[in-house]
Amino acid sequence: MVALSDCKDSNKISTDFPNNYIWGLTFYGKNVSLAVFEHISQIRSWVISQQEQGYSVGFVPTMGALHAGHRSLIELAGRHCDRVVASVFVNPTQFNNSDDLLKYPRTPEADHVLLESAGCHALFCPEVSEMYDDGERTRHWDFGLMTHSLEGHFRPGHFDGVLTIVKKLFIAVGPNKAFFGEKDFQQLAIIKKMTAEEGIPIEIIAAPTIREASGLAMSSRNVRLGSSDRDASIHISKTLLEARSIGRSQPPKVLEKWSYDQLSSAPGLQLEYCSLVLASNFASLENWSDEPSVLLVAAYVGGVRLIDNVIID
Ligand code: AMP
Repeated sequence: MVALSDCKDSNKISTDFPNNYIWGLTFYGKNVSLAVFEHISQIRSWVISQQEQGYSVGFVPTMGALHAGHRSLIELAGRHCDRVVASVFVNPTQFNNSDDLLKYPRTPEADHVLLESAGCHALFCPEVSEMYDDGERTRHWDFGLMTHSLEGHFRPGHFDGVLTIVKKLFIAVGPNKAFFGEKDFQQLAIIKKMTAEEGIPIEIIAAPTIREASGLAMSSRNVRLGSSDRDASIHISKTLLEARSIGRSQPPKVLEKWSYDQLSSAPGLQLEYCSLVLASNFASLENWSDEPSVLLVAAYVGGVRLIDNVIID
C-alpha cells in the first residue's frame, strides 16, 4: 500500500477520485490525475468503484510507445464512456521473434504525458509476473482462417499470445467497452470472436486507422524507419488507397493481383502478403459479395515489419 505522501504531486490529487482509492496510485502532471496501477487487484477495485458510482468504463489496451493512433482510441473511449482506462504492457507471448521484443520501443514518460492530455483517467501497467504465472503456456485458439491465415500464418503463435493477454486484461480491468484499431484488422476480428465465444460482457468498438501526412499508417515501430525506409513504406498506403478507389470496378482476383504486383515490385519493400478477403471470415474472394471485404498487406521495410489494410465495401 502506498501512503498519500508517497504519491508524486500528492497535493494535486483530483477530488474526482474517492480517498479510499488513493492507495497504490501514483499521480503525474498538473491538474488531471492519471492514476497508475501495477497490480490487478488495484485496477479491478478502481474500475468497480467507478462503475458503482454509475460511471461507464472504456478500456484501451496498448503496448506503449504511444502515438496519435493510440490517442484517437483514448479520445474515442472518452466520447463513449465516463472513465477511460489504458493499459501499457509489452506482451512477451505475442512476439514470435525475440529480437523484435528486445527492439520494441519503450517510452513510459512520454506515454504518461500523452495519456493525461488525451483525457485518460487510469493506467494499468503490470509487470510480466503480474500477468503470467511461472512457466505458464499460452492457450491455443482456433477460429479457422481468422486465426490461421495471413498474420496467423506468418507469425506462428502470435495470435495465441494476443488472445491470451487480451482475455487476461479484460478479466483484470472489467470495462464496459474496449477499443481497438482497424489498423490491426485481423487482431480486431479475432478479439471480437474471442469475446463473443467466451461470453465476456464487453462491447468491442473499432476505431479507424490514423495515418501520417504521407499516408503511412501510424505504428510504434515507425520510429525505427530511416528516411529511405519511409520513402519505400509509402508504397503500401498508396497502393491500398488506389486499390480502394478501383474497388469493385474490377473482379476481386484482378484487384488483388494488381495490388500484389505493385507492392512486390516496389523498391525497398519485401512483401510478405497482399490478400483480399471477406472481412467477416477471412475467406478469399472469387466474386464480390454484399458484405465488405478487406485488402491486407504485410511487408518488411529496412528490417521493420509493417502491416496495413483498407476496407473495400
Ligand atoms: P499496440 O500498442 O500496437 O498494441 O496498439 C494498441 C491499439 O492501438 C490496437 O488496438 C491498435 O490497433 C491500435 N492502433 C495502433 N496503431 C493505430 C493507428 N495508426 N490508428 C488507429 N489505431 C491504431
